[in-house]
Amino acid sequence: MHLIDVALPLKIHELLTYRLPPDFPLPEPGSRVLVPLGRREAVGMVWGYRDEFSQPEKLREILAVIDEQPIVSGMLRDFISWAANYYIYPVGLALQEALPSGFLSARGDRTHGVAVGSRSSRGADFLLDGWNSQSPAVLTDEQAEALQTLFQRMDTGVFSPFLLHGVTGSGKTEVYLRAVERTVSSGKTALVLVPEIAMTSQIAGIFHERFGDSVALMHSGMSDAQRRSQWWGIKESKYPIVVGTRSAIFAPLKNIGLIVVDEEHDTSYKQEERFRYNARDLALVRGKYSGSVVILGSATPAVTSYYKAVSGNYSLIEMVSRPGGVTLPRILVIDRREKKKRQDGITGKREEDPLDHWLSPELYQGIRDALDSEDQVLIFLNRRGYATFVFCPECGYVFRCTQCDLSLTWHRKPGAANGGKDQGVLVCHYCGSSSPALPACPVCQGQAVRAAGFGTERLSQDLAQRFPDFKVARLDRDAVTSQKRLKAILSDFRERKIDILVGTQMVTKGHDFPGLKLVGIVWADLSLNVPEFNAAERSFQLISQVSGRAGRRSEQGQVLVQTHMPDHYAVRYAMHHDYKGFFQEELEKRKVLGYPPFSRLINIRLTGKSKSEVKDAAAMLASVARERAELLEIKGDSDNSPFGPAGMESKRVQVLGPCQAPRGRLKGRFRYQFMLKGAGIDALRRVCFAVLHAGKRDLPARIRMDVDVDPMSFM
Ligand code: ADP
Ligand code: ZN
Repeated sequence: MHLIDVALPLKIHELLTYRLPPDFPLPEPGSRVLVPLGRREAVGMVWGYRDEFSQPEKLREILAVIDEQPIVSGMLRDFISWAANYYIYPVGLALQEALPSGFLSARGDRTHGVAVGSRSSRGADFLLDGWNSQSPAVLTDEQAEALQTLFQRMDTGVFSPFLLHGVTGSGKTEVYLRAVERTVSSGKTALVLVPEIAMTSQIAGIFHERFGDSVALMHSGMSDAQRRSQWWGIKESKYPIVVGTRSAIFAPLKNIGLIVVDEEHDTSYKQEERFRYNARDLALVRGKYSGSVVILGSATPAVTSYYKAVSGNYSLIEMVSRPGGVTLPRILVIDRREKKKRQDGITGKREEDPLDHWLSPELYQGIRDALDSEDQVLIFLNRRGYATFVFCPECGYVFRCTQCDLSLTWHRKPGAANGGKDQGVLVCHYCGSSSPALPACPVCQGQAVRAAGFGTERLSQDLAQRFPDFKVARLDRDAVTSQKRLKAILSDFRERKIDILVGTQMVTKGHDFPGLKLVGIVWADLSLNVPEFNAAERSFQLISQVSGRAGRRSEQGQVLVQTHMPDHYAVRYAMHHDYKGFFQEELEKRKVLGYPPFSRLINIRLTGKSKSEVKDAAAMLASVARERAELLEIKGDSDNSPFGPAGMESKRVQVLGPCQAPRGRLKGRFRYQFMLKGAGIDALRRVCFAVLHAGKRDLPARIRMDVDVDPMSFM
């Protein structure tokens, strides 16, 4: 009798065992099977065989074998198992995330021979406009040196991680392209990961231009059918090159010689729901499995990545200059503190002009000068909408989402005239619920409801008013309603049909705008004041990346940064393009507080509809964690963590919290969390499993528990 272990997309960490009916052919691991599950049927994947089971007669039988051949290789299964185990997530659900949607659904296509994508179905909507895809005739010295180092390792077939730290505009893309070219011509495959924003990025188009039909694309802008056909094409070795967003780390490539992670610091590599993996970190694991060269590339590497590079875990390649001797932009900081303004002799009078609330005289003048000399301007603010705060001045009531405890943002309809009837809507930026603006105060019925704070919509309206002879456009999730629209805005800006572009984070990444001279960062404090241990790192990255868009061609660009925190070290180092200085200071701070890279974190979050129930559950589980942590210290369980602890005792686990999450309620669910902190991942995991076990035993199903290993956000 054959006993088969099957991975099913269920919330259990174990595999389920089934019997194979005598007349069935033995399905190989990696093939899908149809099995009975309770009173329904489910599709799972054969994960392995089993020799014995306590009561085999009680096992149920497999109903059908779906795939004659395994569809997921042994190496890919090992990789998925590793990831599921590391992120403490059920392996069947991890597998479901790793496959295109529908692969593990009982109603989905059961015939595996889905037509492999025709040429037209690759779902590519490239942003090729204005891109010069010609390979530069001459590499810069830095590019040539980088490639020489990479090529040496590529020939060995041994796992070799690199950190490519190259300033913005240093020509990292060309290094990737040549490394990929070399990999493919030696008969291996290459995987290129790009941030989620890839939809907006040029890099997919660049790869397509260079390598044509050898490239498969995998990103969120594709339909399920397109994804499925790409997946089969990759599996059947039609495409030696895959360019994709984070889930492409699970692409069914064979014989991977090279993995590139572009903008490795980008937070979109981390999936913030369900299976909370980080594709950047998994790239190193997959690279280890397949003996690949792995290149993590960035102008502003994650502090943890750079730390690994300087401590010898990764080889470090640095590129410090831009091709053709173009210099990095000049960054000036504009102090927005009131006191400073008074010293400068600017009276309160000016402030009465509402436009001045966000626009300093210096930035105004900068824009004026740039426009006068026919240069383009980019204005950055990472906040959408017109006004970010709506309140009743009579009683003080603040409009909040009834489900999310977040204040509502006022979005005015495009073109809605001042004082017109249609005042737009109040929107919750978390759940998207909206209501007409501006209503009377629900508490005191006051009619004078007012709005404060500014978002990109307000900025672009103000700028259009201030500079009526110039074309102002906006690039944010509200203005970009389709990929077509996005393409139009980006190419208009590149072709100088737009003079001032106002945008959120969407404008920061990877874009190359030839005519862009001035970048204005409206309020750097926004990211500095987030209550997270990595807020300074993110701010430094954001300022540097936005600045990096300016002056990428011949003339030096200029960046004006408005802030109330001009002395903050993230601002100061970004101003001087001093990554290493920032890294050193940040590292010292992390060391004192024992944050990564000097520790690892696991965040455990409880959510539910009853506040007291969630609070009690968090308190109960945090004390379970404390007890287990104490026991570990006393017993001193051995810890053979492969991730060397950096200066902290590997067995010690601290439990921080519980407390209500900064976003205390979302979509009607209250959120409490506590954090496990320690240098040894083994010890952390043991404590986490004790918590999971207690949660499973003692918590009602209406309370959900979420485990986040190596969290990037604590909001
Ligand atoms: P990064 O990704 O490092 O920010 P890019 O790869 O976008 O920088 O390159 C910046 C610009 O430099 C691009 O316009 C690119 O075409 C150009 N470039 C890259 N390599 C060379 C080279 N060897 N000679 C001339 N121009 C180059
Ligand atoms: Zn909401």
